[in-house]
Amino acid sequence: MSKLVPPHGADALKPLLLPEIERAEEAERASRLKQVPLSSREVSDLFMLGMGAYTPLEGFMGEADWRGCSEHMTLANGLFRPIPITLSCSQELGDSIGVGEDVALIDGDSEELLGVLTVEEKYSIDREFECSHVFRTADPDHPGVAKVLAQGPVNLGGPVRTLSEGHFPATYAGLYHRPAETRAMFSERGWSKVAAFQTRNPMHRSHEYLTKIAIEICDGVLIHQVLGALKPGDIPADVRVRAIDALAQNYFVHGTILQAGYPIEMRYAGPREALLHAVFRQNFGCSHLVVGRDHAGVGDYYGPHDAHHIFDTLAPGSMQTEPLRIDITFYCYTCHGMATTKTCPHTADERLAISGTRLREMFAEGEDIPPEFSRPEVVAVLREYYDGLDRQ
Ligand SMILES: [Zn+2]
Repeated sequence: MSKLVPPHGADALKPLLLPEIERAEEAERASRLKQVPLSSREVSDLFMLGMGAYTPLEGFMGEADWRGCSEHMTLANGLFRPIPITLSCSQELGDSIGVGEDVALIDGDSEELLGVLTVEEKYSIDREFECSHVFRTADPDHPGVAKVLAQGPVNLGGPVRTLSEGHFPATYAGLYHRPAETRAMFSERGWSKVAAFQTRNPMHRSHEYLTKIAIEICDGVLIHQVLGALKPGDIPADVRVRAIDALAQNYFVHGTILQAGYPIEMRYAGPREALLHAVFRQNFGCSHLVVGRDHAGVGDYYGPHDAHHIFDTLAPGSMQTEPLRIDITFYCYTCHGMATTKTCPHTADERLAISGTRLREMFAEGEDIPPEFSRPEVVAVLREYYDGLDRQ
């Protein structure tokens, strides 16, 4: 009997990826079906469904689930679910598809066949309604809102079988771990309480501090990388892994952290997205999620602690994964250590703060990165990466 938190809303994980032995036959059948192209966000949701991270969902949501999730964060059956997971298409394509029909799900960019959907429902949605609830704004400048507003006018709901995980297992071999795999890794180590720490950065002192706070409370920490398309200035996943390994080898008790990555596309829905991140971490076997300042936020759409407070509004039993709410962390020269505004009474000029932009500038100029900001072993990995870029 596993000591880990159970999957969300189910006795067992429900990965929707067909067993390998069945995929060729289903792909052959799918080649004769109408094709529905998926946006990058829809592809990432399909991969999350495929790997079992969205357990107990069996596919893309129908209208009642969409409305309940948007408005009250619950599915039609009452289960907690903070963000709707939907698939849209054009009016013309929607009109050509009958209820009960199977359709092939195709990556809209690569045209790769990814899965099959049995269409149980066709419906249109009020996109402003969804955005004003999920994102707390319908401002088209918000990147998550913009994606919803760009959706086709028809939503298709129903169960899916997935046939592919795209390039992720090959590109991120050794890092791409499905929920069943992270659970096995935790159980092997005898862990029961595990915190997830979400990052798309190499780990500097502030990330190290957050992780160590979590280790004080739990048996171990899963450093969980968001895999996928990089924004300009992002550090590639393999460089991040090497930087985190260098930190782990030199500054962590052996065997207290594990690294993994998963294929979500960020919606930047701030507090609602913090809830989404927590609920699917339960499927990965994590009892806790580190929720920092302005978690999954963008611009100034959300207050710095909105993602902390929203957990207090949930009905008891909504999910088992709990937030570890931690404010922004920094090195304080007067405290002589890492701290947060909860533990350090000093002023901003006694604390070290380096923005991501300033850090990249410091690497570009060959300036020394202070050890109070980043460990020298981490700096060495990043320096090698930036030097390589310069030579290109
Ligand atoms: Zn201080």
